[in-house]
Amino acid sequence: MPQEYGAVVGLDARLTVLGSLNMDISVTVPALPGPGATVLGGAASFAPGGKGANQAVAAARLGAASGIGVRMVGCVGDDDFGRALRAALVAEGVDDASVRTVRGVPSGIAMITVDKSGENMITVAPGANREVGAAEVAATGGVEADVAGAGATGTSAAQVAAARPAAAHVLVISAEVPVPAIAAALETSAKRSPRPLTVLNLAPAPPEAADLVAARPDWLVVNESEAAAVLGTPVSGLAGAARAAAALVAAGAANAVVTAGAAGAAYHGADRGQGRTVAAFPVRAVDTVGAGDTFVGALAVALAAGIPAQEAVTAAAAAAATAATRPGTQAGMPRPRDVHAATGYAWPLSAAG
Ligand code: ADP
Repeated sequence: MPQEYGAVVGLDARLTVLGSLNMDISVTVPALPGPGATVLGGAASFAPGGKGANQAVAAARLGAASGIGVRMVGCVGDDDFGRALRAALVAEGVDDASVRTVRGVPSGIAMITVDKSGENMITVAPGANREVGAAEVAATGGVEADVAGAGATGTSAAQVAAARPAAAHVLVISAEVPVPAIAAALETSAKRSPRPLTVLNLAPAPPEAADLVAARPDWLVVNESEAAAVLGTPVSGLAGAARAAAALVAAGAANAVVTAGAAGAAYHGADRGQGRTVAAFPVRAVDTVGAGDTFVGALAVALAAGIPAQEAVTAAAAAAATAATRPGTQAGMPRPRDVHAATGYAWPLSAAG
């Protein structure tokens, strides 16, 4: 029912991403190298990436037609990569005013090796992403500023808060930034009024992952290996993902999604108190590097628009499958019309895209 959902989105929905920005340096190889081995690949390509920035771009592409503003909060170095990373966000319509340029440290870099089947290996040098701290946690606010501004024009803060649906501000937090900043962002969000809906993507899962889940994010999104790291038990396949999603809700998340690559994704949460699995949309994958980040960005857009939880997960799976059909990470992130063309699924906010 795209039109019905579309009607929900006349509001000034906001989406903030707290996370990493990296320059991705990618090489395609015939087969991934084992330890100690060297393989010859094609020419290196340089492209903007980082889980946070990727999720912001995915959200911007999917949410733009529905009026959902996306803001990035994070750090880059005072170097050419940093300038390129900011420019790439701006070119996608993402607000970069809360991206801090830190002197004396390099921008984050990810070294990505992809084989012909689309399987990948990634090494990240965090650089400026390690500087994410109190300034960025403070910058994850923003709804309060709107409320204060509205008060100045004669509308009371309480009236504005009451008029704004609970999901109108979504805060996505991804884990390529320091854990204290993640913990502080969750804690601060819980005290804000109106409270943003938090979407925590523990990718990669830090050693403190279980504590972050216990901090009760509204949504937790992890893949199989990240779920296994949080729970301390192996997680494999859609059935395993479903069990893990239920366990992650028991561990503190209000809603949990465990993605299982080409098998699909499992959801468990407050929506009718039930679990559900979504089989992957059947597509021919050429590059799955951005699939997980597209899933998170798409889910956040759907939630910001007030799409019900289970439909939001399906929409995210369709967007992620579409990303897998397209080369490049940010370059492969879909707009609504791309999702429809690749999967047959009508993106619920803007079917015409
Ligand atoms: P990550 O890249 O973070 O490890 P996954 O590999 O689990 O994440 O992929 C995230 C989601 O992307 C999956 O739940 C699925 O919906 C979608 N996806 C990934 N690979 C494919 C594929 N080959 N075909 C269709 N959908 C896919």
